[in-house]
Amino acid sequence: MPEQSRSVTFKNVSKVWPEGVKAVDGVSLEVAAGSFVALVGASGSGKSTLLKMVNRLIAPSAGQVLVGGESVDAGPAPDLRRRIGYVFQNVGLFPHMRVGENVAIGLRLAGEKDNAGRVAELLDLVELSPEIAARMPDALSGGQRQRVGVARALATGPGILLMDEPFGALDPVTRDGLGKAIRALHDRMGLTTILVTHDMAEALLLADRVLVMEKGRIVADATPRELLAGKGGPAADALVAVPREQAHRLAELEK
Ligand code: ADP
Ligand code: MG
Repeated sequence: MPEQSRSVTFKNVSKVWPEGVKAVDGVSLEVAAGSFVALVGASGSGKSTLLKMVNRLIAPSAGQVLVGGESVDAGPAPDLRRRIGYVFQNVGLFPHMRVGENVAIGLRLAGEKDNAGRVAELLDLVELSPEIAARMPDALSGGQRQRVGVARALATGPGILLMDEPFGALDPVTRDGLGKAIRALHDRMGLTTILVTHDMAEALLLADRVLVMEKGRIVADATPRELLAGKGGPAADALVAVPREQAHRLAELEK
């Protein structure tokens, strides 16, 4: 996929739900091709709503979302979604289908025949052995399940990867390992990645750029280095203070 088709742009985008909740409030934003952006914020701040407007799972009430400089409405939604991998909050594997079939759904979406070789390749990409294809999702660990979710998201060979709190239910060690694996995939495949998380430490350690969302607005937009230097503004400072203080306390214990 050409470099420029992997950028994501929000132009004054808002989403008002029928009950009057303004989930996203006038967001303007340019996510450069190849960047790894973390979107951080409290529950209900509008992160998922913003993310789902990129692949048209949600339509904005106002403003425009562009992928590769083109409005997401320019063509059919399936064409758009083929170019955008999406990892659901809470994994979202089909429980009644084997792992291989779960991954192959991504292939079918791309109009490819679901062949076992390609499924094995995709599993290998996320460091899972091919035998896992025959298992049911409930016979996997949480971390393995989420890796399958990532394999499925990458089946169509997308240039953009959207992840909605993908590590939420995982233990800290698995979570750390999966985070590193995703970052390595991002770098190797030259993806544009948007990762939604409520964990500022994870955002700082994985992303090139951190956005903080509050009540539907982006209230901070900075690199991890800038955030750690206190240049992100008050909302970001409050979130950065938590992992920073924990790191200091650990360092004290080690003395
Ligand atoms: P986050 O992902 O940051 O937790 P969401 O984007 O899910 O936040 O939600 C933002 C706001 O929009 C919340 O107030 C939520 O209740 C509301 N909301 C989200 N989805 C819907 C929906 N399908 N219908 C009505 N309100 C919704
Ligand atoms: Mg959410």
